[in-house]
Amino acid sequence: MKIRLDQIVKTFDTFRAVRGVSLEIESGELVALLGPSGSGKTTILRMVAGLEYADGGHIHFGYQDATDIPVRDRGVGFVFQHYALFPHMTVAENIAFGMKVSRVKREKAAIAARVIELLRLVRLEGLGDRFPAQISGGQRQRVALARALSVDPKVLLLDEPFGALDANVRHDLRRWLREIHQELGITTIFVTHDQEEALDLADRVVILREGAIVQQGTPEEVCRNPRSAFVMRFLGDANVLPAEIRSGVAYAGGASIEALDIADGKAELYARPADLDWSLQGPGIDARIDRVLDRPDGRRVLASTGTGTQLEFDVEPERVMKSGDRGFVTLRRAKVFPV
Ligand code: ATP
Repeated sequence: MKIRLDQIVKTFDTFRAVRGVSLEIESGELVALLGPSGSGKTTILRMVAGLEYADGGHIHFGYQDATDIPVRDRGVGFVFQHYALFPHMTVAENIAFGMKVSRVKREKAAIAARVIELLRLVRLEGLGDRFPAQISGGQRQRVALARALSVDPKVLLLDEPFGALDANVRHDLRRWLREIHQELGITTIFVTHDQEEALDLADRVVILREGAIVQQGTPEEVCRNPRSAFVMRFLGDANVLPAEIRSGVAYAGGASIEALDIADGKAELYARPADLDWSLQGPGIDARIDRVLDRPDGRRVLASTGTGTQLEFDVEPERVMKSGDRGFVTLRRAKVFPV
């Protein structure tokens, strides 16, 4: 089911939480809404679900205007961060619940068969008789997903479903969710403030800021071509250096890089830790190493420039470096944005 948001707006009292968001989600696509806290992700998701009314604009499900269709008739399944399972019901009863209260009447045997099928899908075979308190947090979220899927939703809405889980479990569940999505092909909107989660999971990432979309694209597009300093910063660690543009070249300390489409004047140069390197001879930005942090896959170096800017960059694990060394930070690549 294709979903189209057309200039949707939401105001709480006098506060405009969503400011004219237009977005198309193709049938079978997995889209992540990504943005800092308060950027409007949950409000947008709740409007798609029908849990919140849009003050302006329209939401289409396929060719149908869904703006006024009530929640239970929208055919959406949800999983929320704290979408508590019913504690007094077993896992199987929790999964069956939606089918029992649905307008679509099902035979008891059909419900039981579907529960077994869903338990297999979310890889919890054999745990149907446990109560929620007797399974782990990650398993509970899998039950929540099975419950959401039980009524064959046309659209799946996930709001930080792994937010409360620890990093390793999150990592495993991401891969698992991606596999399930591939298998079922349900149009899915996933809300997260975790960049890595959005980039790992989604076909397309929609980046929000203060209730508006600032950029959208495949993970590759947004990572390789951030269109603003906000997106560059938000997507991950970024070093920021003051720069000066002269005739299509950005100068920062003793380093320079092409910046063809930017007018002469002040600018900021953004570089990820992997975009910088270290050399004992210039040209480059003269700097002193403050600390070397050893990690399983390499070394992260913290350095300060002569003007006091702090920089972080990555080098191979075998590179000999220590705090107090002096040298030059060089640029492999960088993005330049006018100030
Ligand atoms: P988070 O990552 O923290 O969940 P979010 O991007 O999902 O944030 P929303 O929950 O959509 O953001 O909130 C957007 C803005 O709307 C916030 O400033 C929030 O305080 C405000 N807001 C949300 N719901 C309400 C409400 N019921 N009443 C008043 N203001 C609200």
